[in-house]
Amino acid sequence: MTDCLFCKIVARQIPAEIVLETGRALAFRDINPQAPTHVLVVPKAHHENAAALAAADDGLADDLLTACHAVAVQEGVVEPGYRVVFNTGTGAGQTVFHVHAHVLGGRSLTWPPG
Ligand code: AMP
Ligand code: ZN
Repeated sequence: MTDCLFCKIVARQIPAEIVLETGRALAFRDINPQAPTHVLVVPKAHHENAAALAAADDGLADDLLTACHAVAVQEGVVEPGYRVVFNTGTGAGQTVFHVHAHVLGGRSLTWPPG
């Protein structure tokens, strides 16, 4: 997609602090971190949200979750735990319509989220 912020980060047209790259996914630090570790993990291919990603049915959703865990391992947040969040829809706070997993960790995370 030409006018998508995360497609532009994937294409290296906009800078980002990339922490992990796999064949089909890219992980970079959130520009407005909500925790000591706050990394966004995106598929390189454009899909609007998690449902569209799952519907692609080509293993991409699996790859994305695997990349999320790899980021957590790399960031050292597997213990005591980390959170993976897909905001889906404006009411849930989605602002960028290229599916992205927020990987949050490095502090105690309360439940329910706000
Ligand atoms: P969401 O609100 O779930 O759609 O998440 C979008 C996230 O993208 C927010 O947490 C923003 O802080 C983050 N964000 C926006 N622009 C950038 C950017 N240029 N680089 C990294 N993260 C960004
Ligand atoms: Zn995109």
